[in-house]
Amino acid sequence: METTEIRTFIEVFRNGSGWNRVSPEKALRTDLAGMEMFSPALLGTAGADDPAFLLLKNEGAVGPQFLLPREWLPGARSVVSFFLPFTARVREANGESGPEPAPEWLHGRIEGQDFIDRLSRALVERLREEGADAVSPAVDSRFASCTLRNTAFLDEAGTPFPVTFTSNWSERHVAFVCGLGTFGLSRGLITSLGVAGRFGSVITTLPLAPDNIIPDELYGNCTLCGECAAKCPAGAISLEKGKDHILCSKYLDLMKEKHSPRYGCGKCQTGVPCEKEIPGPHKR
Ligand code: SF4
Ligand code: SF4
Repeated sequence: METTEIRTFIEVFRNGSGWNRVSPEKALRTDLAGMEMFSPALLGTAGADDPAFLLLKNEGAVGPQFLLPREWLPGARSVVSFFLPFTARVREANGESGPEPAPEWLHGRIEGQDFIDRLSRALVERLREEGADAVSPAVDSRFASCTLRNTAFLDEAGTPFPVTFTSNWSERHVAFVCGLGTFGLSRGLITSLGVAGRFGSVITTLPLAPDNIIPDELYGNCTLCGECAAKCPAGAISLEKGKDHILCSKYLDLMKEKHSPRYGCGKCQTGVPCEKEIPGPHKR
């Protein structure tokens, strides 16, 4: 199996499995039944031993609790990261719905993530059928994420790492290493298809030709226009301090109280210049 076949597999699953559409039973409005959540994916491939993965263990990146591809899967040769951009319908509805998340966005966030999880599992299964081993960390039983200092991640002495919001695998950071984009002020990853979408990844023993060109600038695609800060209903983003994850998280908790079992916001990703493309010209 080669990267082009993986690309085809993802597109066939996106277009033909049915999981990329909101089911009539789950639709928040009757006109949302059957709504497509994601457009075709972007793909990036890195060698499992790419030294850039080691940098993700730094405190300033993901942190020491980040597990390397070969810590997830001994013998791993390649990492495939994919970005599924939300459809115009999802993006535009959220860009126009004021401070509240649009129902379209709530579906994209929850049923959309369910689609990504199913796609990740299906891709792992497909690679195994081809005779390779594979793991998708985000749907693996070893995946752990934590908020604030807690005991999810302990060092050798049994002391919790001094972390705030983190996990042992970060799709955005892995996508960065796989060459899919650079970070923005809102901390999303700005790809050539913008920032509004969701990421997934698979680690495999299959040797795939790496196609990642890691950008020199961590924030190269962000113009620092500040429009994400202006749109944030929680005041969680500023040009001076970047993103305050605690304020963002509190707002998401509030949205969960209102929209449970769904939640979401994404105002910093919609109705902004980097929503669906790399913005420009560079304004710095
Ligand atoms: S809206 Fe502007 S400042 Fe915010 S991430 Fe996008 S390009 Fe950067
Ligand atoms: S998700 Fe919402 S609350 Fe969080 S930073 Fe973006 S706009 Fe602000």
